[in-house]
Amino acid sequence: MPPNKPKQPIKAFNNTLDMVDAYTWNIDAIYDWIGEVADDPAKFGAPEKGDDLEAKKAHLEKIKKQIIKLGVPAPRWKGGEEYQDAQLTPNQHIRRRLNTNNVPPPPEYTYIEPPIEKSPFEVNGSESQKKNGNGAAVLFPSMLFWNPCDLMGLFLSTIGLAPAAANKEQFYVPLLAMFGLWCAKISPPVWKDGNSRNHGNYFPAVVQCTWGKAQGVPGARDDFFLGASYSGISLAGPWSPTQYFWDRVVRYERFKLVPIQSLKFDDSPARGNGSGTADVPGHRFGNCAETYPFTNMMRDPSHNLQGIAINSRYTSYPAPEKKIKDNIVDPCFNCQDWILRCRGTVNNFAKAGTVKKLWVPPPAMF
Ligand SMILES: [Zn+2]
Repeated sequence: MPPNKPKQPIKAFNNTLDMVDAYTWNIDAIYDWIGEVADDPAKFGAPEKGDDLEAKKAHLEKIKKQIIKLGVPAPRWKGGEEYQDAQLTPNQHIRRRLNTNNVPPPPEYTYIEPPIEKSPFEVNGSESQKKNGNGAAVLFPSMLFWNPCDLMGLFLSTIGLAPAAANKEQFYVPLLAMFGLWCAKISPPVWKDGNSRNHGNYFPAVVQCTWGKAQGVPGARDDFFLGASYSGISLAGPWSPTQYFWDRVVRYERFKLVPIQSLKFDDSPARGNGSGTADVPGHRFGNCAETYPFTNMMRDPSHNLQGIAINSRYTSYPAPEKKIKDNIVDPCFNCQDWILRCRGTVNNFAKAGTVKKLWVPPPAMF
């Protein structure tokens, strides 16, 4: 065998799923699979103990239904009721309700152009909690979910632990690549000039997987969590002030998920290196694909977490499997900040080797 020949991906979910084969599945095939998993999770690696299994089954069924309501309508499964709700137009891949309460502007709302007007919608997230459920007493936080991509990440992360032989090349990269390609089926972007922004559905720019040894579980298997960056909003057509404000409302909802005290919405290492200037480019905390994975996993320094992130551009190519490696990206300054606060190792999340760092490390959270 040539020395650099890539190793074959290992099969996922109790040796049932060829992830590379699943890269090409259409939306109905994806829904068939999540339906099968929700019907019989033990077959796919969920714990086989009675109570745990029943709870997991109910939980997966709930997530499945929510994904199908928020995704585009599928030819056979249909769905899309909450995506294209006639009372809540234009279509959005976001669980939402009319804003009847005059959503207050996020704190530090200092933009003056375009003019501040109230958002047409509020985010109407539904609460969910990933349960390890393999006999361990590990509790993940209960969080709000409103986007089908993040819900798909939750679904895949909830079924069971990673295979014992899981490693970056043979398990996490193909798992994450499959997840991104599935997101592109349930929440399809319109690509133009290398991005999906302003062309209809705002597709996640990045997908991420974080993993580490499951705590309190016999054996040494990994737990993992998949997430997508800010997405789901429709910014097609002229960018009106109300759309603009809705965009900020969704960004603020994601910001609120980040469990770091004392953060400010308009201030982050990626935005002017913490200068406190609101009208600088760069993204806020909560924007990143790491938001759900880190909130769930980044809780204990002894976890020795690792992670990988891929720019979603790879999903736009006719042969996406050939573009995955080129699109792996380093964690941004905000995510590096978060890792360091949790006394994690930034280079465990690197594309390769050492991550470029530019700022003073933050204080540790624990
Ligand atoms: Zn980031």
